[in-house]
Amino acid sequence: MRKQLVVLCLLLVFSLGRTGSVQAQSADAKALLEQSAKAMGGMQALRSLKNQVVESEGKQFDSSSTPRPGGATRQISTFRYTLTRDLIQPRLKLEWEGKSLGARDDVRFVEIIDGPVGLLQEGGAGGKQSRLHPARLATRLREEKRVGAKIILVALGQKILKRLPDADLDGKRYQVVAFQDSGDEFRIYLDSTTHLPAQVEILEDDPLEGDSRYTLRYSDWRKVDGVMIPFGLRLELNGKPLQEEQIKSVRNNVSLAPDAFSVPESIRNQKPDAKPIASQWLLRRVAGNVSYQDLGRNPPVEFIQIADSVYQIQGSSHNTIIIEMRDHLVAVEGPLYEERSYPVVKAIKERFPNKPIRYVIPTHHHLDHSGGIRGFMAEGAIVVVPFIAENFYARVAKAPHTLRPDSLERNRRAVVIESYGGGHRVLTDGNRQIEIWPLPTSHAEDFQVIYLPREKILIEADHVSPRKGQVRSAPVVKELVDGIDKLRLDVTTVAGIHGDTAPMQAVRAAAQGGTQ
Ligand SMILES: [Zn+2]
Repeated sequence: MRKQLVVLCLLLVFSLGRTGSVQAQSADAKALLEQSAKAMGGMQALRSLKNQVVESEGKQFDSSSTPRPGGATRQISTFRYTLTRDLIQPRLKLEWEGKSLGARDDVRFVEIIDGPVGLLQEGGAGGKQSRLHPARLATRLREEKRVGAKIILVALGQKILKRLPDADLDGKRYQVVAFQDSGDEFRIYLDSTTHLPAQVEILEDDPLEGDSRYTLRYSDWRKVDGVMIPFGLRLELNGKPLQEEQIKSVRNNVSLAPDAFSVPESIRNQKPDAKPIASQWLLRRVAGNVSYQDLGRNPPVEFIQIADSVYQIQGSSHNTIIIEMRDHLVAVEGPLYEERSYPVVKAIKERFPNKPIRYVIPTHHHLDHSGGIRGFMAEGAIVVVPFIAENFYARVAKAPHTLRPDSLERNRRAVVIESYGGGHRVLTDGNRQIEIWPLPTSHAEDFQVIYLPREKILIEADHVSPRKGQVRSAPVVKELVDGIDKLRLDVTTVAGIHGDTAPMQAVRAAAQGGTQ
C-alpha cells in the first residue's frame, strides 16, 4: 500500500513592527543592557574580570538521531570539563571528559585556542594532536561571546543594537535586545524584574530544521567576586535540549602559566583547510562522537561505478548512490547538508544531462543521512519513505531556510512524498527493478534497504559501512543480516552509504563476530 503527500512550501513574509528610528532603538537597548550590567555587579566589576577557570558537569541530549523519526529526545552522555578562558582575548583551554551512554566510545579531548589557531588533542594524556578544525574553533569562540560574565559587555560593544518586542517565556515577561555579530543575530532576553539575562538566542540555519533558534539559558545565579554568574546552563535547539550543565566552581582572575594557551609551532604552521563556519550542527556531531570533518571543506564528487548503471558517489564521509534508469535517475541518500548535496546534484546533472532525478530514497531520518535531501527535493525528486517517516520529511520540505537559503528555498516547489507500508515498494522502468524494503532495526525504525535484484546488490547505511571489502564486526551487523535473511533477499554485494562495497560473505563473517 502506498500514498502520496504533496507538500506545498509557502513563502511566508514576516514583518517586524518598526518602533522608532534605529538610533532611538539603539539608545533604548543600550539603557536596558546598562541596567543589566548594574544588576550583575556593575560595569567596573564586569570589566575587572580578566580570566576564569570553570569546572562543570552535565548531560548531553539528542533529538535527531533517535530510533523513531521525531521521537523523544534522549540523553546520550554525561560529561565534566575544566575550562580556562581569557575574558579579554579569544583564548581558552577546554579539557573535556565525556561518557557515552550508548555503544559509542567515550569523548575525551583537550582544545586549546589562541586567537585564529587551535589545537585538538583527542583521547587521554598523550593522545593524538591535530589542528583544531576551523569551524570547531569558530563555533567555540562564538559560544564564548555569550558566556554569562561577558555577554552584556559584548552587546554593549556593538555599534548597532535593536530593541525587539517584549517576549513571554513560561509566563514571565522579558525585554529583548538584538545585535548582529559575524553574520549571526544574537538575541538577549532580559528578565524585567531582576534585569539579569535569562537567555541568549543565536539564529542560525539547520539543514533539517531550517531557520533555528540556538538558545543558551542561564539559571542559578550566584555572586562570585562581586559579579553575578549563572551556575546553571542549558543549550537548546528550537526548544529541544542539547546540553544541560551545573557549574561546580568558578575562579576568577587566577594567575595563569605563560604557556596556558600555547599551541605548538608545528600545528600553528599548518594551513587552515576549511571555512570557519560557526554551527550548532558541528557541536552535536562532536557530542555524538561522529565526523564533522567535511564541514566547510569542498571534498571531491567521485563517481565509482559498482555495477552496470549503478554509481556510488564517494569523496565525503557519506555517499549518494545513483541508479540510471531508461529515462530518469533514482538517487539513494541526500546526506549531510546543502554544502554537500549542491555539488553532488550539480555533478549528477552534468553527467546525465537528459535524465531527471525522479526519486530520492533516504535510508533513514538521522541528521547526517537526511540533511542534504532538500537539494534533491529542489530537483523535483519524489521522496520514497515508509509511512512512519512521512511527517518527518513533510516537515523537512516545509521548513523555511531564509537565514541561509538552500536550493529548495531558492527554488520553492511542491514536494511529493510517497510513503508505503505493508510490504516493499518497487520502482521500475520496464527493464530494471529497484526494490525498497523497510527493515526497522534498533538504529532506526524507518530504516530501509534498497535491493537491486539483477545485480544482487543491497544498499544500506550505518550497519555495515564496508572499507575495501572489509566489514567490522558489531551487534548491528548481525541485526542487518538477520533482517536480510528474514526478507529472503539473495544478496551478493553490500554497498554502503559509508565506505564502499563488500561481499556478502564478509558481512556474514562480521555478523558471526569475526572480520573478513
Ligand atoms: Zn544513522
